[in-house]
Amino acid sequence: MRTRIAAVTDIGHVRDQNEDRYLVAEPVVAVADGMGGHLGGEVAAQLAVETLERLTQRREGSLADRVREANRAVWERSRSDPTVAGMGTTLTAVELGEGRARVAHVGDSRAYRFRDGELLRLTEDHTVVHRMVLEGQLTEEQAELHPYRNILTRVLGVEPAVDVDEAEVDLRPGDRLLLCSDGLTGMLPERRILQVLAEETDPRSAADRLVAEANAAGGVDNITVIVVDVVEVVEGGDRRMAPADDPPPASPSRPTALDVRPPTAGIGRRRGPALRLPPGTVRRAAVRLGVAAAVVTLALVGLRLYLDAQWFVGVSDGRVAVFRGIPAEVAGFELHRVVVETEIPATEARSLALYRNLDEGITAADRAEAEAIVAQIRADLAREGG
Ligand code: MN
Repeated sequence: MRTRIAAVTDIGHVRDQNEDRYLVAEPVVAVADGMGGHLGGEVAAQLAVETLERLTQRREGSLADRVREANRAVWERSRSDPTVAGMGTTLTAVELGEGRARVAHVGDSRAYRFRDGELLRLTEDHTVVHRMVLEGQLTEEQAELHPYRNILTRVLGVEPAVDVDEAEVDLRPGDRLLLCSDGLTGMLPERRILQVLAEETDPRSAADRLVAEANAAGGVDNITVIVVDVVEVVEGGDRRMAPADDPPPASPSRPTALDVRPPTAGIGRRRGPALRLPPGTVRRAAVRLGVAAAVVTLALVGLRLYLDAQWFVGVSDGRVAVFRGIPAEVAGFELHRVVVETEIPATEARSLALYRNLDEGITAADRAEAEAIVAQIRADLAREGG
């Protein structure tokens, strides 16, 4: 298959470092969006794409196998190096074959196929809000604006093993694939992304303009975009793509998952995410949906790993305390726990203008910073008390 590929990553307007990484190593392209304080995010994303690239060069395993290996590599590094403990990353990878593409995915970066003016989402966001949408607690529109839309339920590298979503789509000349981090989809509505892809026929111009528009809309996060244009498909030749865990049906006359999609199910249909996963994955998802308690438990297990990397100073039992997590609750579950209790009465701290909003939580980059804030409160109170 002949392709034209353009990739751009941009720090955005707000962040002071770029924790996104991309890989263009045909037949594989991928986007990774790292997270986890200081150096962690960059290291996790970099390690994930490097591992994927190395295993692809060696033609080892299926695409999903390589993503699982990348998970292992990030997790092991995170365990052995305290400076990056708790780091993680998203990883959305696409392997190009003749007339088809396979997707392996963890996190909230996304892959789309653009064809005939329709945008088909190939990945499902592993976020709390997406799960709430699936359960009918939120609409897609509400989810786009929800304050916790960035909280992931599945991350690469925070546990020894990770569940990897897999999907496959057919490709023909004229099709375009888009891979991107949430720095794009968090800034631009899908209908705008669709419009840009339709207007910019050159992949480089399309990628550049998407990044420029995300920045113009605020650029609050790092932005990464890969555009893959399918130029030519060689009939019957598919030697480059590694076998899948679950090989698709060999007979070309049998419809693939995608062929049976209703033609209307593109960007126009807001409620049904245009999403196709292999039958096994869909079944797993359905089982989860059927057991509400299990869904909540799963979400919280993933959440805990994210929350463990977050710190703030707040109030517990009327006293100043250091918390791990974020000062919020989702669906009745508190997203934090007390790590250090102090003797400082919250009423005294609140009496100082600087700490008036203590109850809402003062966020810190890490435990040391949180403890430094407590020390500052103590010092300020001592000075006030004279
Ligand atoms: Mn991001």
